[in-house]
Amino acid sequence: MKLKKFGNKWVVRIDKGEEIIETLKQLCKKNKIKLGSVSGVGGIERATVGSFKAKTKEYFSQELTGDYEITSLIGNISTMKGKIYLHLHITISDSNNNAFGGHLNSAIISTTGEIIIEEIKGEIEREFNEEVRLNLLFE
Ligand code: FE
Repeated sequence: MKLKKFGNKWVVRIDKGEEIIETLKQLCKKNKIKLGSVSGVGGIERATVGSFKAKTKEYFSQELTGDYEITSLIGNISTMKGKIYLHLHITISDSNNNAFGGHLNSAIISTTGEIIIEEIKGEIEREFNEEVRLNLLFE
């Protein structure tokens, strides 16, 4: 991983074999980034993506292995119980250019990951909400 800061923005390169969420969490922790937005592109070889069924409040996840382009990685940085909390969604495309995606649980970079973090000077805590059964902002 490599990074460079320009104003309130961080340009990040994630390298082959590195896991996106863990790499970004460590980076945020080390550089005291507690709030912000994340966007990125790149290539991955393995990902676990999920979806949440609002009616039944059940969470499903699926592991995907293959050659995928990250057509869009987007999300935010906040904190929960003082710890960095990343909420990222991903859309990836396969070798036939079919795209699919979901909530990102983990993804391993196969080529490179090019991520931009826009840091917001502040802090917003999440808390588990019983009604929706998700960790919500501003609780
Ligand atoms: Fe999500």
